[in-house]
Amino acid sequence: MLEGIVRLGSSSSGVMQAQFRSFAKKMPAYYASVIAMMLSVIYVFHGIAPAWAAIGIPSGISLLGTVRGYWWLMHADDAVTWSEAHVYLRRSTWTLIVAVSILMAMDVTLFRYGNDHTRYFLLLQMLACATCGFYCLMHLRMASLVVFAVVMIPFDVLTVSLHQPSATSTAVTATVTAGVMILAMLGYQRDFLNLIRAEADTQKLSQENLHLAQLDMLTGLPNRRYFFDVLASWRPQGEGATVAALGMLDLDGFKPVNDTYGHTVGDSVLAEISARLRSVSERIDHLCRLGGDEFAFLVQAEDEEALRRLGLDIINAVGKPIQVANKIMSVGCSVGFALWPKQGAAEGIAQFEQADYALYHAKRSGRGRTVLFSEEHESLIVEQGKVEQALRSADLQAEFYLMYQPIVELSTGRTLSLECLARWKSSVLGEVPPAVFVPVAERTGLISDLTLVLLGQALRAAEGWPDHIGLSFNVSPYDMTSREQIVKMIEAILASKVSPGRLTLELTETALLNNFAETTLHMEMFRSVGASVALDDFGTGHSSLSYVHSLPFDKIKIDRGFVLNLESNPASRNIMRAVIGLCRDLNVASVVEGVETEAQLQLLQEMGAGQIQGYLFARPMTQGAADAFVEQRISSAAESVLGLHTWQAKSRLSGLPFVLREGLGTEGEWDAGGEAERQRTAG
Ligand code: C2E
Ligand code: CA
Ligand code: CA
Repeated sequence: MLEGIVRLGSSSSGVMQAQFRSFAKKMPAYYASVIAMMLSVIYVFHGIAPAWAAIGIPSGISLLGTVRGYWWLMHADDAVTWSEAHVYLRRSTWTLIVAVSILMAMDVTLFRYGNDHTRYFLLLQMLACATCGFYCLMHLRMASLVVFAVVMIPFDVLTVSLHQPSATSTAVTATVTAGVMILAMLGYQRDFLNLIRAEADTQKLSQENLHLAQLDMLTGLPNRRYFFDVLASWRPQGEGATVAALGMLDLDGFKPVNDTYGHTVGDSVLAEISARLRSVSERIDHLCRLGGDEFAFLVQAEDEEALRRLGLDIINAVGKPIQVANKIMSVGCSVGFALWPKQGAAEGIAQFEQADYALYHAKRSGRGRTVLFSEEHESLIVEQGKVEQALRSADLQAEFYLMYQPIVELSTGRTLSLECLARWKSSVLGEVPPAVFVPVAERTGLISDLTLVLLGQALRAAEGWPDHIGLSFNVSPYDMTSREQIVKMIEAILASKVSPGRLTLELTETALLNNFAETTLHMEMFRSVGASVALDDFGTGHSSLSYVHSLPFDKIKIDRGFVLNLESNPASRNIMRAVIGLCRDLNVASVVEGVETEAQLQLLQEMGAGQIQGYLFARPMTQGAADAFVEQRISSAAESVLGLHTWQAKSRLSGLPFVLREGLGTEGEWDAGGEAERQRTAG
């Protein structure tokens, strides 16, 4: 019975709490009215009825009303759980039923005392009590009906017992009115319950919508929006962890998979990688897909070393071959970490940017690596900020210029071409090396304009050289992804007096990794007008020669890194020999970069290297020096006749670098800036 009273027609927790709130707001007023009634009873009946009935019971009920009314006043705004609401409502219902029953017993007792006036007073008071109780308990259907019955039955009995027609009709009117009130209440209560349920449904729906809005459908991971929501309030509290960090990872070589096998396969690869990431470590928290092939997570670890190990675990897990639709493929990934400050992060945005920067560095430094954002990065950002500012306001045509470094045929000593190397004499910062300004220009998008300015300068320089001297020009991966830029470059080439056949465009593997399909297409566009394309810095990235062979490269430039320890390391010699041999077999021209010593030269000669470039032969030189160099080479009959063997013998005899023997490229014309930069970066 009690359960029935309190079940209130619904067991849904939202309804129960709504009933609690509605009830709680009305109870103080209800008890105030009961207290007012009790005071008036004392006032009317003291001296006419026994003290226990005229003063004792009303005082007791007033006291109870005061206590309960005050309690409700204090707890009206409590956020209660379903079970708390249940207990409170149950308790209140019983209190009310007992209190109203006592009150009725009191009224029935007092009815025998006094005169008709006091009796009518009592009847009126019973009606008031019924109406108030009915109204205040409206949301507790059974309770209100019980209270109503407890009051109305004695009321009707007492009224009819007066044996007066007016009293009897009052009883009838009151009973009919009560019936109407009950009907109205039932309707109102239905509406109330519907309203609460609708509200609960709307809330549930909006929660579902929020969940969907924060979900990445493809992988089932939370998305970028979710990650930023979490960042704002994340507090590390892992057991045994001393460092917390934000990690970010980006797949290497995902675009080629997408471009080659299509987006459905690409999607499956992403889903598989997400599943692997989920199971790498339970320390990874809030893993989400930021978009494309980029993921982020929060993590806690024992120390920085453990973070690095985790980065390695992630790279290994992602790098395992993936089978999709009978095809086996593999992608790599790079990881960037930013430490979470011990005192907490304001919104995590700074950590997000730092991890992004670390990731960018991981990718630039060869991919498949983990980089932890450090103080060095911090100062680099400051430095790059200055560079960026200066670059944005720079007069590209006036401040940028090219140095030229010859590329030589090893067997004959003939200069085949000159590579153009960009230099910047900033009006604000002075000389800035390319290793600093090229990344900034790429990030800011200024590289497109810069490439066009430099290409114009290079073509003008080459116009003054004989037709058999080629021109090697470095293009940025960013140039290679823009059709508009490629068209502009081809237009510039065709508009110049330089035959496109003299031109070689050097690009790194990064260009292909960033956008395989477009880059290969754009390479073909250059080749279709007669220009060649060279793969620069071979050996610093991931590509195998057989893979490179399937791409439209005319030339491969073997990175300086292989030459560095050619003399001391037999493994380097073996690799160099193999690469040179393979290039020859694949019928692709090879250029060995960074040849600095005669010992290196001799070894390369024994290996049958095709072309070489390096300080031993010539340093990058100004356009004036390059013009003179080319002029000298043409007039030097010795060059073609003697070949390099003779030159080598002579050079060794004189003990002087070849370029000095030629009487060209004096100290001032050498690329001292470039050298300083290389020492800096090597250090
Ligand atoms: P890179 O294309 O690999 O250029 C060769 C770099 O090696 C040049 O450095 C050159 O001065 C240096 N070098 C040549 N021979 C030797 C040697 O025997 N020993 C040593 N230690 N170094 C040697 P530089 O001029 O500082 O250029 C650095 C990089 O900046 C270039 O590497 C290239 O990636 C980029 N870069 C230069 N000019 C341009 C440009 O016009 N456009 C673009 N997009 N990038 C450029
Ligand atoms: Ca180059
Ligand atoms: Ca290179």
